[in-house]
Amino acid sequence: MTDYDNFIGRVKELSLIGSLSGLMGWDQETMMPPKGGKLRSDMMAFLSSQAHKRMTDPEMGGLLDSLESQDLTGEQAANVREVRQSYDKATKLPAELVEEKARHKSKSLQVWQEARSENDFEKFKPYLEKTVELTCKTAEYYGYEDNIYDALLDIFEPGMTVSQLDPLFSGLREAIVPLVQAVGESPNQPDTSFLDIGKFSEEKQREFSMKVAESIGFDFDAGRMDTSTHPFCSGAGPNDVRFTTRYDDEFPFGCLYGVMHETGHGTYEQGLLEEHEGTPMGQAVSLGIHESQSRMWENMVGRSKEFWSFYIDEFKNCFDHLPSDLDVDTLHRAVNTVQPSLIRVESDEATYNLHIMVRYEIEKQLVSGNISVGDLPDFWNSKMEEYLGVTPPNNTKGVLQDIHWSMGAIGYFPTYTLGNLYAAQLYAAALADDPNIPNKIAKGEFTALLDWMRSHIHVHGSKLLPADLLRQATGKDPSSDDFVKYLKSKYTKIYNL
Ligand code: ZN
Repeated sequence: MTDYDNFIGRVKELSLIGSLSGLMGWDQETMMPPKGGKLRSDMMAFLSSQAHKRMTDPEMGGLLDSLESQDLTGEQAANVREVRQSYDKATKLPAELVEEKARHKSKSLQVWQEARSENDFEKFKPYLEKTVELTCKTAEYYGYEDNIYDALLDIFEPGMTVSQLDPLFSGLREAIVPLVQAVGESPNQPDTSFLDIGKFSEEKQREFSMKVAESIGFDFDAGRMDTSTHPFCSGAGPNDVRFTTRYDDEFPFGCLYGVMHETGHGTYEQGLLEEHEGTPMGQAVSLGIHESQSRMWENMVGRSKEFWSFYIDEFKNCFDHLPSDLDVDTLHRAVNTVQPSLIRVESDEATYNLHIMVRYEIEKQLVSGNISVGDLPDFWNSKMEEYLGVTPPNNTKGVLQDIHWSMGAIGYFPTYTLGNLYAAQLYAAALADDPNIPNKIAKGEFTALLDWMRSHIHVHGSKLLPADLLRQATGKDPSSDDFVKYLKSKYTKIYNL
């Protein structure tokens, strides 16, 4: 057996452990009876220790060393590069730090939940201080060149750095803040009164959104849709993709756009090549690229006029209490309502990134020691006022709202905005190749767009780093230009600016 075969055999076994965890995680959120929790956490911990043991096996290190000096094909080299990253991350941290982080995370998560419901930041403060301390230690072990925050960004978006993000984000902020202000001052606000007449049944919401997911190209023979409190997309592999949604009988768009979002994640997973299954070449490359797929289907397609001109009749058939004169224009404007708000997960596509930038600024300053955890509530509120023009009435609706920091996920938030920027850049490139895509969407045909994403993104798995993949697909460096252009043109029309 060659070194490469030995290596790939080990990588595929690790991937099987990942598939088992994925499936059990899905089951935990959708099916598991409440009393199953104790055994389930033992099962998950067992799998994760098995994976850690295999990943940090000195023989794995030896194989990587040897393969790195061999002549490999581009695909083989990509697999070695990606596993090297994981191996280094798994071996660079001392065992005591890994254990301390795991112990701290479960306690911190619990205290955050209490603190959030009691609006008590002081209660969470010492835990967040400890999280920041452990995160900084981790970053030091991982290493970085310019900025300590780079080591954290790299965990979630390989290769991303502060020096790349800063100009991207500030350009975006300079364009969005005045746009959101102009939208708020416009006398032409959308009419959403049709939402107040009667209820939207769960069964019909499910039927309508599944039909959309299927038309986009999600293969229900290689995936499922279920219900959970927090929607997500996971599963065992490209032929077994599980996503979830939730229902609100007063507001059908939460379910629909949630499903379109997860369908974007799901079609990416289903589009990975089977021949590379179980290796990085057959895995999604990053959270930012993943989020580009979900946001594109959710926003650029799902909130377009073309989409609604095709689906309005079906929508009205499903919900027959809707006014018979409800037209495409009203519907299209209603689903594109922009309103600065306090809660990130409820925010619209124009203000969403401003919520992310508040968090990005805070994280950067926290880990470089420029502000302390005690400064957070005030810092948060002043940034919200500066970017969005709103001030939280309390910390529950402010600095305590997100789960991420309680879990130690510092450096994660920027991937959401990168996803939006990548989505617009990819969509613009697809339109440049095929200007008929919007006309096709207006006929309910999504194949051209999905095929473009398949050939430019999905089939490449983790062959390239995210920014390089984007460059190859669009011919341009990652930039906020296409996103800003898209937002300006869309909202200028909708709000008559
Ligand atoms: Zn997502």
